[in-house]
Amino acid sequence: MEFRRRKTRPVHVGKVGIGGDYPVSIQSMTSTSTKDVTATVAQIRRLEEAGCEIVRLGIPDEESARAVRDIRRETLLPLVADIHFDHRLALICLESGVDALRINPGNLRKREHVEAVVAACRERSVPIRIGVNGGSIDRTKYSHPTPEALVDSALGHIRILEEMNFFDIKVSLKASDVPSMVEANRIFAAKTEYPLHLGVTEAGGLIQAVVKSSIGVGALLLDGIGDTVRVSITGDVVQEVETARVILRSLGLRREGVEVVSCPTCARKEFDVERVVNELTARTADVRKYIRVAVMGCAVNGPGEASDADIGVAVGKTDAVLFEAGKIVRKIPREGILDVLLSEIRNRENSRI
Ligand code: SF4
Repeated sequence: MEFRRRKTRPVHVGKVGIGGDYPVSIQSMTSTSTKDVTATVAQIRRLEEAGCEIVRLGIPDEESARAVRDIRRETLLPLVADIHFDHRLALICLESGVDALRINPGNLRKREHVEAVVAACRERSVPIRIGVNGGSIDRTKYSHPTPEALVDSALGHIRILEEMNFFDIKVSLKASDVPSMVEANRIFAAKTEYPLHLGVTEAGGLIQAVVKSSIGVGALLLDGIGDTVRVSITGDVVQEVETARVILRSLGLRREGVEVVSCPTCARKEFDVERVVNELTARTADVRKYIRVAVMGCAVNGPGEASDADIGVAVGKTDAVLFEAGKIVRKIPREGILDVLLSEIRNRENSRI
Protein backbone atom coordinates (compact mmCIF):
# COMPACT_ATOMS: atom_id res chain seq x y z
CA MET A 1 0.00 0.00 0.00
CA GLU A 2 1.32 3.45 -0.90
CA PHE A 3 0.57 6.44 1.30
CA ARG A 4 1.21 10.11 0.76
CA ARG A 5 4.22 11.62 2.51
CA ARG A 6 4.18 15.11 3.93
CA LYS A 7 5.77 17.68 1.62
CA THR A 8 9.13 18.79 3.02
CA ARG A 9 12.06 20.91 2.05
CA PRO A 10 14.98 18.47 1.56
CA VAL A 11 18.41 18.75 3.16
CA HIS A 12 21.55 16.72 2.46
CA VAL A 13 23.67 15.06 5.10
CA GLY A 14 26.68 14.17 2.98
CA LYS A 15 25.44 11.78 0.29
CA VAL A 16 22.09 11.12 2.04
CA GLY A 17 19.06 13.22 1.14
CA ILE A 18 16.49 13.78 3.88
CA GLY A 19 12.99 14.97 3.11
CA GLY A 20 11.57 15.78 -0.33
CA ASP A 21 11.25 12.57 -2.34
CA TYR A 22 14.17 10.84 -0.67
CA PRO A 23 13.48 7.52 1.05
CA VAL A 24 13.19 7.57 4.83
CA SER A 25 16.76 7.03 6.02
CA ILE A 26 18.14 5.14 9.00
CA GLN A 27 20.53 6.62 11.50
CA SER A 28 22.10 5.78 14.80
CA MET A 29 24.54 7.23 17.32
CA THR A 30 27.80 5.76 18.54
CA SER A 31 27.95 4.71 22.19
CA THR A 32 31.76 4.72 22.38
CA SER A 33 33.84 7.62 23.65
CA THR A 34 34.46 9.75 20.56
CA LYS A 35 38.00 10.32 21.86
CA ASP A 36 38.63 6.61 21.35
CA VAL A 37 38.99 6.75 17.59
CA THR A 38 39.71 3.02 17.14
CA ALA A 39 36.62 1.91 19.08
CA THR A 40 34.41 4.54 17.44
CA VAL A 41 35.52 3.63 13.92
CA ALA A 42 34.97 -0.06 14.69
CA GLN A 43 31.43 0.70 15.88
CA ILE A 44 30.71 2.86 12.83
CA ARG A 45 31.77 -0.08 10.60
CA ARG A 46 29.37 -2.41 12.44
CA LEU A 47 26.58 0.14 12.06
CA GLU A 48 27.27 0.53 8.36
CA GLU A 49 27.25 -3.23 7.79
CA ALA A 50 23.85 -3.39 9.53
CA GLY A 51 22.40 -0.78 7.15
CA CYS A 52 22.96 2.49 9.02
CA GLU A 53 23.11 5.44 6.62
CA ILE A 54 24.01 8.33 8.93
CA VAL A 55 25.90 8.17 12.21
CA ARG A 56 25.94 10.74 15.00
CA LEU A 57 28.86 11.31 17.34
CA GLY A 58 28.55 12.87 20.78
CA ILE A 59 31.04 15.75 21.21
CA PRO A 60 31.21 16.57 24.92
CA ASP A 61 34.64 18.29 24.88
CA GLU A 62 37.47 19.60 22.74
CA GLU A 63 39.39 16.33 22.70
CA SER A 64 36.32 14.60 21.20
CA ALA A 65 35.96 17.39 18.64
CA ARG A 66 39.64 17.02 17.67
CA ALA A 67 39.18 13.24 17.25
CA VAL A 68 36.57 13.78 14.52
CA ARG A 69 39.27 14.51 11.91
CA ASP A 70 40.79 11.04 12.43
CA ILE A 71 37.37 9.37 12.42
CA ARG A 72 36.47 11.23 9.21
CA ARG A 73 39.54 9.76 7.47
CA GLU A 74 38.35 6.24 8.25
CA THR A 75 34.74 6.32 7.01
CA LEU A 76 32.63 7.62 4.15
CA LEU A 77 29.43 7.30 6.19
CA PRO A 78 27.84 10.74 6.76
CA LEU A 79 28.76 12.03 10.22
CA VAL A 80 26.69 14.29 12.47
CA ALA A 81 28.33 16.08 15.39
CA ASP A 82 26.08 16.35 18.46
CA ILE A 83 26.98 19.50 20.39
CA HIS A 84 25.53 21.36 23.32
CA PHE A 85 26.27 24.96 24.32
CA ASP A 86 29.86 25.34 23.01
CA HIS A 87 30.05 26.82 19.51
CA ARG A 88 33.85 26.26 19.36
CA LEU A 89 33.28 22.50 19.31
CA ALA A 90 30.94 22.95 16.36
CA LEU A 91 33.55 24.95 14.45
CA ILE A 92 36.26 22.33 15.08
CA CYS A 93 33.91 19.56 13.88
CA LEU A 94 32.96 21.51 10.76
CA GLU A 95 36.64 22.03 9.94
CA SER A 96 37.13 18.30 10.46
CA GLY A 97 34.57 17.44 7.79
CA VAL A 98 31.31 16.54 9.54
CA ASP A 99 28.23 16.47 7.31
CA ALA A 100 25.70 17.91 9.77
CA LEU A 101 25.43 19.42 13.22
CA ARG A 102 22.91 18.69 15.90
CA ILE A 103 22.88 21.91 17.88
CA ASN A 104 20.19 24.17 19.30
CA PRO A 105 21.07 27.78 18.45
CA GLY A 106 19.06 29.13 21.38
CA ASN A 107 21.45 27.29 23.73
CA LEU A 108 24.56 29.05 22.41
CA ARG A 109 25.69 31.84 24.69
CA LYS A 110 25.92 34.76 22.27
CA ARG A 111 24.34 35.70 18.98
CA GLU A 112 27.80 36.09 17.41
CA HIS A 113 28.50 32.45 18.30
CA VAL A 114 25.40 31.37 16.38
CA GLU A 115 26.45 33.60 13.47
CA ALA A 116 29.91 31.98 13.38
CA VAL A 117 28.39 28.48 13.32
CA VAL A 118 25.82 29.42 10.68
CA ALA A 119 28.51 31.00 8.47
CA ALA A 120 30.68 27.88 8.71
CA CYS A 121 27.69 25.63 7.90
CA ARG A 122 26.66 27.81 4.97
CA GLU A 123 30.19 27.77 3.53
CA ARG A 124 30.19 23.95 3.57
CA SER A 125 26.50 23.33 2.75
CA VAL A 126 26.13 21.56 6.07
CA PRO A 127 22.62 21.38 7.60
CA ILE A 128 21.71 21.87 11.24
CA ARG A 129 19.40 19.58 13.15
CA ILE A 130 17.46 21.27 15.88
CA GLY A 131 16.71 18.60 18.46
CA VAL A 132 14.26 19.27 21.24
CA ASN A 133 13.16 16.95 24.01
CA GLY A 134 11.68 17.22 27.48
CA GLY A 135 14.93 18.66 28.85
CA SER A 136 15.12 21.52 26.38
CA ILE A 137 11.77 23.25 26.83
CA ASP A 138 11.41 26.75 28.28
CA ARG A 139 10.65 26.05 31.98
CA THR A 140 9.67 29.66 32.60
CA LYS A 141 6.79 29.16 30.19
CA TYR A 142 5.94 25.45 30.52
CA SER A 143 6.05 23.35 33.67
CA HIS A 144 5.79 20.06 31.71
CA PRO A 145 7.18 18.93 28.38
CA THR A 146 3.80 19.01 26.65
CA PRO A 147 3.61 18.53 22.86
CA GLU A 148 2.92 22.26 22.51
CA ALA A 149 6.00 23.07 24.62
CA LEU A 150 8.21 20.88 22.43
CA VAL A 151 6.89 22.51 19.26
CA ASP A 152 7.23 26.00 20.73
CA SER A 153 10.83 25.26 21.70
CA ALA A 154 11.68 23.97 18.19
CA LEU A 155 10.06 26.97 16.53
CA GLY A 156 12.07 29.31 18.77
CA HIS A 157 15.37 27.73 17.68
CA ILE A 158 14.24 27.75 14.03
CA ARG A 159 13.44 31.47 14.22
CA ILE A 160 17.02 32.26 15.23
CA LEU A 161 18.39 30.49 12.15
CA GLU A 162 15.75 31.91 9.81
CA GLU A 163 16.64 35.43 10.97
CA MET A 164 20.11 34.67 9.61
CA ASN A 165 18.60 33.46 6.32
CA PHE A 166 19.61 29.91 7.12
CA PHE A 167 17.02 27.32 6.12
CA ASP A 168 19.10 24.15 5.78
CA ILE A 169 17.34 22.73 8.81
CA LYS A 170 15.89 19.46 10.01
CA VAL A 171 14.14 18.99 13.30
CA SER A 172 13.49 16.36 15.91
CA LEU A 173 10.87 16.51 18.66
CA LYS A 174 11.46 13.64 21.02
CA ALA A 175 9.85 12.45 24.21
CA SER A 176 9.97 9.24 26.16
CA ASP A 177 6.17 9.35 26.35
CA VAL A 178 4.92 7.98 23.03
CA PRO A 179 1.60 9.90 22.72
CA SER A 180 3.41 13.20 23.49
CA MET A 181 6.09 12.50 20.90
CA VAL A 182 3.48 11.61 18.27
CA GLU A 183 1.35 14.66 19.00
CA ALA A 184 4.32 17.05 19.00
CA ASN A 185 5.41 15.83 15.58
CA ARG A 186 1.87 16.06 14.21
CA ILE A 187 1.50 19.66 15.40
CA PHE A 188 4.92 20.60 14.03
CA ALA A 189 4.30 18.87 10.69
CA ALA A 190 1.16 20.95 10.17
CA LYS A 191 3.06 24.19 10.74
CA THR A 192 6.30 23.87 8.72
CA GLU A 193 7.95 22.13 5.77
CA TYR A 194 11.18 21.27 7.55
CA PRO A 195 12.04 17.56 7.39
CA LEU A 196 11.60 15.54 10.57
CA HIS A 197 13.98 13.16 12.30
CA LEU A 198 11.79 10.76 14.28
CA GLY A 199 12.56 8.94 17.48
CA VAL A 200 11.26 8.04 20.91
CA THR A 201 13.94 9.08 23.35
CA GLU A 202 15.06 7.25 26.49
CA ALA A 203 13.05 4.31 25.25
CA GLY A 204 14.69 1.76 27.54
CA GLY A 205 15.98 -1.78 26.97
CA LEU A 206 15.45 -3.87 23.87
CA ILE A 207 11.83 -5.05 24.05
CA GLN A 208 10.41 -1.85 25.49
CA ALA A 209 12.41 0.32 23.09
CA VAL A 210 11.34 -1.74 20.07
CA VAL A 211 7.68 -1.53 21.09
CA LYS A 212 7.72 2.18 21.95
CA SER A 213 9.65 3.10 18.79
CA SER A 214 7.46 0.95 16.57
CA ILE A 215 4.31 2.57 17.91
CA GLY A 216 5.61 6.17 17.97
CA VAL A 217 7.64 6.20 14.78
CA GLY A 218 5.22 3.85 13.04
CA ALA A 219 2.15 5.96 13.81
CA LEU A 220 3.80 9.04 12.32
CA LEU A 221 5.16 7.26 9.27
CA LEU A 222 1.69 5.88 8.56
CA ASP A 223 0.50 9.51 8.54
CA GLY A 224 3.22 10.33 6.00
CA ILE A 225 5.24 12.22 8.62
CA GLY A 226 8.95 11.55 9.06
CA ASP A 227 12.04 11.64 6.87
CA THR A 228 14.75 9.92 8.88
CA VAL A 229 14.56 7.57 11.86
CA ARG A 230 16.68 6.84 14.90
CA VAL A 231 15.56 4.06 17.21
CA SER A 232 17.05 4.51 20.70
CA ILE A 233 17.88 1.36 22.63
CA THR A 234 19.86 0.91 25.82
CA GLY A 235 22.00 -1.84 24.36
CA ASP A 236 23.96 -2.71 21.24
CA VAL A 237 23.64 0.10 18.70
CA VAL A 238 23.36 -2.40 15.86
CA GLN A 239 19.97 -3.39 17.25
CA GLU A 240 18.82 0.19 16.69
CA VAL A 241 19.54 -0.14 12.98
CA GLU A 242 17.99 -3.59 12.71
CA THR A 243 14.83 -2.33 14.41
CA ALA A 244 14.60 0.73 12.19
CA ARG A 245 14.99 -1.45 9.09
CA VAL A 246 12.16 -3.71 10.20
CA ILE A 247 9.90 -0.73 10.99
CA LEU A 248 10.47 0.76 7.54
CA ARG A 249 10.08 -2.60 5.80
CA SER A 250 6.90 -3.39 7.72
CA LEU A 251 5.38 -0.15 6.43
CA GLY A 252 6.54 -0.78 2.87
CA LEU A 253 8.78 2.30 2.99
CA ARG A 254 11.98 0.33 2.39
CA ARG A 255 11.73 -3.01 0.61
CA GLU A 256 15.03 -4.63 1.51
CA GLY A 257 16.50 -7.53 3.41
CA VAL A 258 15.16 -10.96 4.25
CA GLU A 259 11.70 -10.88 5.79
CA VAL A 260 10.97 -14.15 7.52
CA VAL A 261 7.34 -15.21 7.58
CA SER A 262 7.09 -17.89 10.26
CA CYS A 263 4.25 -19.47 12.12
CA PRO A 264 4.04 -19.26 15.92
CA THR A 265 4.04 -23.10 15.98
CA CYS A 266 1.50 -25.31 17.72
CA ALA A 267 0.97 -28.96 18.59
CA ARG A 268 1.19 -29.83 14.87
CA LYS A 269 4.76 -28.60 14.40
CA GLU A 270 7.13 -31.13 12.89
CA PHE A 271 10.52 -29.48 13.53
CA ASP A 272 12.33 -26.82 15.57
CA VAL A 273 10.95 -23.76 13.78
CA GLU A 274 12.41 -21.30 16.29
CA ARG A 275 16.00 -22.52 15.80
CA VAL A 276 15.72 -22.35 12.00
CA VAL A 277 14.17 -18.86 12.08
CA ASN A 278 16.80 -17.51 14.48
CA GLU A 279 19.70 -18.92 12.48
CA LEU A 280 18.21 -17.83 9.19
CA THR A 281 17.71 -14.27 10.46
CA ALA A 282 21.24 -14.04 11.87
CA ARG A 283 22.93 -15.53 8.79
CA THR A 284 21.14 -13.35 6.25
CA ALA A 285 21.48 -10.00 8.06
CA ASP A 286 23.81 -8.77 5.32
CA VAL A 287 21.30 -9.39 2.47
CA ARG A 288 20.00 -6.11 1.02
CA LYS A 289 17.71 -7.54 -1.69
CA TYR A 290 14.11 -7.93 -0.53
CA ILE A 291 13.22 -11.62 -0.19
CA ARG A 292 10.25 -13.03 1.76
CA VAL A 293 11.02 -16.43 3.20
CA ALA A 294 8.40 -18.60 4.92
CA VAL A 295 9.24 -21.16 7.57
CA MET A 296 6.11 -23.08 8.49
CA GLY A 297 5.95 -25.72 11.19
CA CYS A 298 3.80 -28.22 9.33
CA ALA A 299 2.42 -28.97 5.89
CA VAL A 300 -1.24 -28.63 6.96
CA ASN A 301 -1.41 -24.88 6.53
CA GLY A 302 2.16 -24.19 5.41
CA PRO A 303 2.24 -23.32 1.70
CA GLY A 304 -1.31 -21.97 1.69
CA GLU A 305 -0.86 -19.59 4.61
CA ALA A 306 2.46 -18.37 3.26
CA SER A 307 1.51 -18.15 -0.40
CA ASP A 308 2.80 -14.60 -0.75
CA ALA A 309 6.33 -15.58 0.30
CA ASP A 310 8.97 -15.82 -2.43
CA ILE A 311 10.20 -19.13 -1.06
CA GLY A 312 9.40 -21.26 1.94
CA VAL A 313 9.50 -24.60 3.64
CA ALA A 314 6.84 -26.70 5.28
CA VAL A 315 7.44 -30.03 6.98
CA GLY A 316 5.19 -33.06 6.96
CA LYS A 317 5.32 -36.37 8.85
CA THR A 318 7.94 -37.81 6.51
CA ASP A 319 9.16 -35.10 4.13
CA ALA A 320 9.84 -31.41 3.97
CA VAL A 321 8.87 -29.42 0.90
CA LEU A 322 10.26 -26.28 -0.65
CA PHE A 323 7.61 -24.02 -2.14
CA GLU A 324 7.66 -20.87 -4.26
CA ALA A 325 4.73 -18.44 -4.29
CA GLY A 326 2.51 -21.06 -2.63
CA LYS A 327 3.39 -23.90 -5.07
CA ILE A 328 5.47 -26.90 -4.01
CA VAL A 329 8.59 -27.17 -6.19
CA ARG A 330 10.49 -30.08 -4.64
CA LYS A 331 11.02 -32.29 -1.63
CA ILE A 332 14.02 -31.60 0.58
CA PRO A 333 15.59 -33.54 3.44
CA ARG A 334 14.18 -32.52 6.83
CA GLU A 335 17.67 -32.08 8.25
CA GLY A 336 18.71 -29.85 5.35
CA ILE A 337 16.01 -27.16 5.70
CA LEU A 338 18.35 -24.38 6.83
CA ASP A 339 21.03 -25.13 4.22
CA VAL A 340 18.48 -25.26 1.40
CA LEU A 341 16.91 -21.95 2.43
CA LEU A 342 20.30 -20.23 2.78
CA SER A 343 21.36 -21.50 -0.64
CA GLU A 344 18.07 -20.37 -2.23
CA ILE A 345 18.39 -16.92 -0.63
CA ARG A 346 21.97 -16.47 -1.88
CA ASN A 347 20.91 -17.59 -5.40
CA ARG A 348 18.10 -15.05 -5.42
CA GLU A 349 20.33 -12.34 -4.01
CA ASN A 350 22.61 -12.74 -7.02
CA SER A 351 19.84 -13.19 -9.63
CA ARG A 352 17.37 -10.79 -11.21
CA ILE A 353 14.33 -12.68 -9.88
FE1 SF4 B 1 0.67 -25.02 13.75
FE2 SF4 B 1 1.28 -25.82 11.28
FE3 SF4 B 1 0.04 -23.43 11.65
FE4 SF4 B 1 2.59 -23.74 12.37
S1 SF4 B 1 1.76 -23.88 10.29
S2 SF4 B 1 0.97 -22.80 13.61
S3 SF4 B 1 2.64 -25.85 13.09
S4 SF4 B 1 -0.80 -25.49 12.08
